[in-house]
Amino acid sequence: MKLDPQKNNVYGALVDYSLIRKMTLDRFKQGKILRSDICDAQTELMRVAKNYGIGLKQSCPICNNYQLVYVTYAFGNKIVKSGICITEGSEIYDLTKKANELFLYDIEVCLGCRWNHLMKKSQVKI
Ligand SMILES: [Zn+2]
Repeated sequence: MKLDPQKNNVYGALVDYSLIRKMTLDRFKQGKILRSDICDAQTELMRVAKNYGIGLKQSCPICNNYQLVYVTYAFGNKIVKSGICITEGSEIYDLTKKANELFLYDIEVCLGCRWNHLMKKSQVKI
C-alpha cells in the first residue's frame, strides 16, 4: 500500500501547514526572503527524496523545473531519534505496534533546487 498525502492514512491529530507554505511562497515572491533560505534541504533529506520520494504531480513552486516528491518520516518512542522514512502504509502499522504512538511528518521536496516544506504532521495511536 503506497502512502497518499491527499488521503488520511492515519487516525490521529493532523496539523496542515499549507497556510505557512503559502505565506512562505508569498514572502519569497515579494523578495522578503532569499531562495537560499527556503531551498535548503539537507543531504540526507535529498538522498531519501531521490530514492524513496513519491511524486506529487505538482511542479516546484520555486524553480518550476522539477516535479515535487514527498517523503514521510516517522518519529516516536523506541524509534531512532533521527526518525524512519516510511515508504509503505503497512510500515505505519508495524511501527505503531512497536512504539504505541507515532508522529508522521510529510515533507515535500524538489530534487532540483532543494525546496522543502513540511506539508502536515499526523499522530497515530493504537
Ligand atoms: Zn525546485
